[in-house]
Order: sequence, then C-alpha cells, then structure tokens
Amino acid sequence: MAIPKPLCECRICREARYKGVPYERTGPSVYLQDANLLIDTPAEIVSQLNRTGIERVDRITFTHLDPDHIEGFRVVEQITLDFRTWKAYPEKQIQLVLPRRLYDRLGDIRSVYGPLVDYYETQGFVKCVPFETQITMGDVRMTALPVFRQEPTAYILVFEKGGKKVVYAPCDIKPFPLEEAEVRNPDLLIIQPGIFEEGLKHDFTYPDDHISRTTIYTFDQTMELADRIGAKEILFIHLEECWNKSHDDYMAIAKEHARVRFAFDGMTIRV
Ligand SMILES: [Zn+2]
Ligand SMILES: [Zn+2]
Repeated sequence: MAIPKPLCECRICREARYKGVPYERTGPSVYLQDANLLIDTPAEIVSQLNRTGIERVDRITFTHLDPDHIEGFRVVEQITLDFRTWKAYPEKQIQLVLPRRLYDRLGDIRSVYGPLVDYYETQGFVKCVPFETQITMGDVRMTALPVFRQEPTAYILVFEKGGKKVVYAPCDIKPFPLEEAEVRNPDLLIIQPGIFEEGLKHDFTYPDDHISRTTIYTFDQTMELADRIGAKEILFIHLEECWNKSHDDYMAIAKEHARVRFAFDGMTIRV
C-alpha cells in the first residue's frame, strides 16, 4: 500500500501527506546501477524513475507477478515508444530478464487486447531473456532462488560482483530458502521486515491463522533469519501503512539494532 493511503486520515497518512518523502512511500522497487537493472515495476514506477534521476534502464526483472510488483509494467512502453511509429526507439529496447517459470506465466498479465508481453515484444519495447537459475549481466551475476509453497510463488534474487553479495527478498519470502549456499553471508540483505505485531492501526492483532503468516515472517523471526544466514547489514523495505509507523518510528527501531536500516523512497546505497 502506498503511504499516504488514498483518503486515509490516520496519523501516518496525514503526516506523509503534509511532509512528503521520506514519510511518503510508494511501491517496492530497486534499481541496480551496475547492470542498469530495474527490479519490479510498481504502480508509481514512472514517477519513481523521474524523481530519482535514473538515466538508463537496460533490463527489468520481476521477483514475482503480484499486482504491487507489476502494476507499472507498462513503463516499458513509456520508456521506449516512438509515438510516430508506435515502435520502440531501437536503442531504448529493454531486456526482460526473468526466471523461466515467471516468464511462462507472464502472458497472464493482459489488457483487453491480449497479453501485454506479446504486444511489447512485437513493437520492440522488450526482448524476453528467460533464464533457469543464474544469469550474468556485465560483471554482475544474478541467481534466482524460488520460494516454494505449493509451487514457486516468488523469487529471492542474489547479486554478486567483485566478491560482494546482496540478497534481495522484498515480498512473500516464506519459507525462505535458508539451506541454499547462495543466500549465506551477504554483505547486504534487503528484505521485508515481516509482521509487526504491536501498535498496529485500529489496535489490530494478527490471529494465529492470518493469511499473512503463511507468506511472511514476524519482525523477530526476520531478524533471526538475518542472523542465521550471517547478513552483515540489513535493509528493510516494503513497509506497510497498517503497521502504523512513521519514518521517525523506523529510525528509532534502527537505532536499537547496529546493522539495521529502513529504506525510504529515493534512498541510494553503495555496497
Ligand atoms: Zn493511513
Ligand atoms: Zn509485495
């Protein structure tokens, strides 16, 4: 959910409306400059790209196909289209780099005219580059590890370059593939913080059988997970409005934990 949530008058949303970024938050996306790679395209991706001053997108990948990560897929058209010909400017074509199983389901994202990806490929906006487990982009290696519930539902992405490792696990990460060597000892773990159980909006408490408990951990469990894989630093993203925490509240939590930071829109990090 975006913060402010449209029409919401809660403390968090009022403050975000009044103060803007970093109190305001839009959908989950990261840009990896080393590969000119955009990871996920939430609804607000066009304005996110503009305000962060990103100059090139050579590649896009998705962690999974849930709406909050793909609603802005049409950004490929926004970036590449020459409106005089309805074709892409050739030099702007984007590689759609996807784990094979996500690629196989991509056609399910449709408009009234059919699968979006078919149109995007025909017009030259994208070129699909499916891969099995691992792909190299320049000097960056990306490994996609599936999160298995009944079937692979989301992917955890591991980036390696020059002896550094970043694990990117923004959403629906349970059960986390703890046993995989690829996730061990990252220099940076970028992960959703999991469920905060106290101080929630409307004094809500998560029942034991709440659906979110099947897809994400609690905050304490996530911290434990970070310890178990030996993460040197932790960056929390995908922060929800219902957790009833402002940017200041997250900064206060970060102060209590040496290796922890909370992301905000437009944040830049170097590993
Ligand atoms: Zn609100
Ligand atoms: Zn999500």
